Amino acid sequence: MTDGVWAAPGRVNLIGEHTDYNDGFVMPFALPHTTVATAARRDDGVLRLHSADAPGDPVELRVADLAPGRRTGAWTDYPAGVVWALAEAGHRVGGLEVRYTSTVPTGAGLSSSAALEVVTALALNDLYGLGLERGPLARLCRRAENAYVGAPTGIMDQTASASCTEGHALHLDTRDLSRRQIPFDLAAHGLELLVVDTRVRHAHSEGAYGRRRAGCEAGAAALGVGALRDVSHEGLADALARIDDAEVRALVRHVVTENHRVERVVAHAEAGDFRAIGPVLTEGHASLRDDFRVSCPELDLVVDSALAAGALGARMTGGGFGGSAIVLTESAASPAVAGKVLGAFEERSLTAPRVFTAVPSAGAHRVS
Ligand code: ADP
Ligand code: MG
Repeated sequence: MTDGVWAAPGRVNLIGEHTDYNDGFVMPFALPHTTVATAARRDDGVLRLHSADAPGDPVELRVADLAPGRRTGAWTDYPAGVVWALAEAGHRVGGLEVRYTSTVPTGAGLSSSAALEVVTALALNDLYGLGLERGPLARLCRRAENAYVGAPTGIMDQTASASCTEGHALHLDTRDLSRRQIPFDLAAHGLELLVVDTRVRHAHSEGAYGRRRAGCEAGAAALGVGALRDVSHEGLADALARIDDAEVRALVRHVVTENHRVERVVAHAEAGDFRAIGPVLTEGHASLRDDFRVSCPELDLVVDSALAAGALGARMTGGGFGGSAIVLTESAASPAVAGKVLGAFEERSLTAPRVFTAVPSAGAHRVS
């Protein structure tokens, strides 16, 4: 039996990388790629989950038994975590039957995990009449990913999937969670944003992420601020002079300049000067590669080959160590730029990346 169908998108982050756990700014937009949940209420307290992307029979869990200590390490931890987080927050949720299908690439830095969480939360919100607004819904999904799945992510991914709107990028302040929709119609300006999924998934990314986070906290502590968000761009040189550890200094420099880059991209977009965004993206890549040190040879290759082919700007996107890069290009030059990137990978006998044009699409919604 089906009670309804819901969809939640993956996202690409235009600018603002590794800022969301520093109380900073981010600017993602939703992809046309979605995770779709066909779901029905169950009155027996059973959560029955099936994904077309996960082999095997449907998994059955009892809602009353869900607890972070009972996570299994399987994909079902994401939806189970959402049910647990809702219950923990005092929402009355019972059983649920869900079948998922998805066009969001997994592990590509395009937030298939948030799409899976948000679509589950939205279905439960409607089926159990929870009345959750998008902001609180995203926060509960983050809680699921942090506390249940055990991934220490910030709030960007879930907010993007839940709150983006078609034709816009989302300017999100991760401190107070205030959101602004910024019109972002690149095609009308003769431009395209390519997403290049390198298909590289480096295994050591989790530990590296934790070390970067700890380094950022050490930087904030050394400067006597609550979070690196509190260090102004004007005050950066003074702040850096007060940090002894060279590695921490570089992390701080990335976060502070990256927050400033978000503000610059917003200003360019609001002025309708979309071409000016290109060099800011490229600066962001250099900062992630040299200061934050989360790039990898394949991501650098996308950026370098795209720029050599005449792209306006390019950078890695997402957490790093593989995943995807974005390339801003004139629409007319897009096939040539994509061809150059693919050619560069072929020349080095690397797995061919997957390239597609990203068009700002709708956030999570009920389909039927
Ligand atoms: P990203 O969010 O960048 O895609 P993550 O590692 O955060 O990468 O999340 C990917 C994981 O989310 C997958 O390994 C899988 O466990 C789970 N996942 C996402 N989408 C689906 C889906 N449609 N079906 C089953 N599992 C999924
Ligand atoms: Mg994820």
